[in-house]
Amino acid sequence: MRLAINPAACDGLGMCAHQAPDVIQLDPWGYPLVSGDELEGPEADQASRAIRACPRNALFVAK
Ligand code: SF4
Repeated sequence: MRLAINPAACDGLGMCAHQAPDVIQLDPWGYPLVSGDELEGPEADQASRAIRACPRNALFVAK
């Protein structure tokens, strides 16, 4: 799976990075950065947790 973000929906509080520390880094302002790389195994599990945890539904699986 590939993780993507809708930056217009993101509140920049960074909850997702706590759920997916190996997948999501935060920029200097606290907004998440995702690589767009294919994720498998534990990284895909982290990404799924981050999607579920996002209060703004700003994270999604890219096609
Ligand atoms: S949890 Fe959602 S709204 Fe919050 S920083 Fe991450 S992507 Fe943005």
